[in-house]
Amino acid sequence: MHILVVEDEVRLARQIAAALTEAGHDPLVVHDGEVALQATLETPFDLIVLDLGLPQMDGLEVLRLLRAQHVASRVLILTARGQVSDRVTGLQLGADDYLPKPFAMQELIARVHALGRRYNEEPALMLRVGDLTLELINHTVCRGIRQIELSARELMLLKVLMREPGRIFTRTELCERVWEHAHEYDTKLVEVFIGRLRKKIGEPLLIHTVRHVGYTIRESGASSDSPQK
Ligand code: CA
Repeated sequence: MHILVVEDEVRLARQIAAALTEAGHDPLVVHDGEVALQATLETPFDLIVLDLGLPQMDGLEVLRLLRAQHVASRVLILTARGQVSDRVTGLQLGADDYLPKPFAMQELIARVHALGRRYNEEPALMLRVGDLTLELINHTVCRGIRQIELSARELMLLKVLMREPGRIFTRTELCERVWEHAHEYDTKLVEVFIGRLRKKIGEPLLIHTVRHVGYTIRESGASSDSPQK
């Protein structure tokens, strides 16, 4: 895997890189957050090993900006002893795993491999329409950097729409996909849930009504027909 290592302790960074290389990976080492962000804009990484204790821009800020810029790379955070709240915040911000310092290199490699396996099982990590993102691993939905809380059904409905942006789904089709074998084959239900989703997702409108047909999700202006509520 192509791995970005963000660690300001030069010696530790070098040891991590050596261990990753030995395990067959392709690491790039940087020592501060801004350089890390720059690197992720230039090349996609499969995984980012991110130390939280960095000078200037700390690791949590780096993580927040990465996710805000829709960088979908796996993130393994390294936390110093006593940084429990940072660890929790890190996971909430979309880190995939954490490793408390000090750690044995075998432990790091094991975590990296575990994340790699998960990565291979789920090639699409994130669904995206405009600035709306849905992370498939932890079901985090964000509009830009604003996180949106959805119920299980709302999430399912959004996922169906987001898997095929621009495709028009009929109400019946959405009902079948989301409510499956439930007896409530009432397409009114779809309308209610679409309404809730729109309210939570906010403006500009992403879920569009296609008159007499159904619904589609796409960025406003991504197609010629005018958006209708
Ligand atoms: Ca550090």
